[in-house]
Amino acid sequence: MAGVKTTKANKNQTAQERAAATEALSGKKCFKCGKDIKLKELLNVQQVGLGNGGRRTLVSYHRACYTI
Ligand SMILES: [Zn+2]
Repeated sequence: MAGVKTTKANKNQTAQERAAATEALSGKKCFKCGKDIKLKELLNVQQVGLGNGGRRTLVSYHRACYTI
């Protein structure tokens, strides 16, 4: 018997799924407060570090934690 393909592309996300996705953690920690950042609060900032030879580093913040 041939296998039935059940895998479908997730093209239509419901609002609920979308909300759940934004509630999920980004897996990154805030550079300022050190806590986990939710996806909807994630803000990636590229910083040029003087201490590492001017290499660019991607630093993550909460939106609320990042102030210019
Ligand atoms: Zn923070």
